[in-house]
Amino acid sequence: MTAGQAPKVPVTLIPGDGVGPEVTAATVRLLDSAGAQIEWREQKAQPVVGRRKEDSQADPVIRSILETRVGLKGPLTTPIGMGHQSINVALRRALDLYANFRPVKKLPGVRTPFDAVDLIIVRENTEDLYAGLEHIVVPGVVESLKIITERASTRIARFAFDYARRFRRKKVTAVHKANIMKLSDGLFLECIRSVAKDYPEIDYQEVIVDNCCLQLVMRPGQFDVLLLENLYGDIVSDLGAGLVGGLGLVPGANLGEQCALFEAVHGTAPDIAGRGVANPTALMRSAALMLRHIGQASVADRIEAALYHVYSEARHLTPDVGGTASTEEFTAAVIEALC
Ligand code: ATP
Repeated sequence: MTAGQAPKVPVTLIPGDGVGPEVTAATVRLLDSAGAQIEWREQKAQPVVGRRKEDSQADPVIRSILETRVGLKGPLTTPIGMGHQSINVALRRALDLYANFRPVKKLPGVRTPFDAVDLIIVRENTEDLYAGLEHIVVPGVVESLKIITERASTRIARFAFDYARRFRRKKVTAVHKANIMKLSDGLFLECIRSVAKDYPEIDYQEVIVDNCCLQLVMRPGQFDVLLLENLYGDIVSDLGAGLVGGLGLVPGANLGEQCALFEAVHGTAPDIAGRGVANPTALMRSAALMLRHIGQASVADRIEAALYHVYSEARHLTPDVGGTASTEEFTAAVIEALC
């Protein structure tokens, strides 16, 4: 550390699978070039997450995140089929990362049907159908339990309204299907309504999830902060990514009381892995969120300005957004644009 420089902040780095190592390497290169004060603690192995919290906490990846309290993660593969729980889901549960936060904002230079999209998607991360409680009742009949609790619904509502207040967002919209799931989604809404009363300056609305999807693809500008249960949040987040140009662009954060894990919205993209053409923008923007979280906002500002510059020029974009640049060429252009 040279005189006057902030001490380095330890951050757990999980490169992940598929395009993960390519986009994390590009992101680390950008952050290091921008002068981020980070001590990277790389964890190459996949985390082994058990059903019991104590089992998970013995895993070196989880131990590292619990120690550094901040992580940057590439996408992880979860094999499909019986006996495999999603590592992403289990990781969020093991670390109690209850809030999934996705800002969906249009970048210049990316052609989409809408000029200005600026949404915040807040998704409850720990329960709903993701509780993983499924069983075979009799052969040919399975049951999957949707768990909604007052505690988790109130906690996520508080998170969304606090965010809206802090960043002067005007409206929070709860997304639900309480007309059909009267008890579970009904409880979710009841909790949000009760929290909304403490934030009179913020407009509160409710929309049924199918209508929400319709409205999003017709008039996305009518929404500001969207607040959803886990499953609806998962689906609507991808829809949101589609509104601004695709999965390669949208950042995400999983936040809890103790730790925060920043990751791109996209998966491992096995169709393009190893070809050097993955778009690292989503992870770079996630890393910018992370820099704000650890008090390095000025570095985040410079990174976001450089990304905007490269997208405005539209000369070094990756194939997913209509360009021909490789991951490497795109990253070099962003680093060149840092000022
Ligand atoms: P997984 O099973 O890990 O979720 P998937 O292929 O089902 O993988 P994604 O990885 O999210 O889902 O990919 C969906 C589509 O978006 C694929 O065509 C993929 O190539 C594309 N895509 C995802 N991430 C990126 C990226 N960073 N850059 C370019 N294209 C991407």
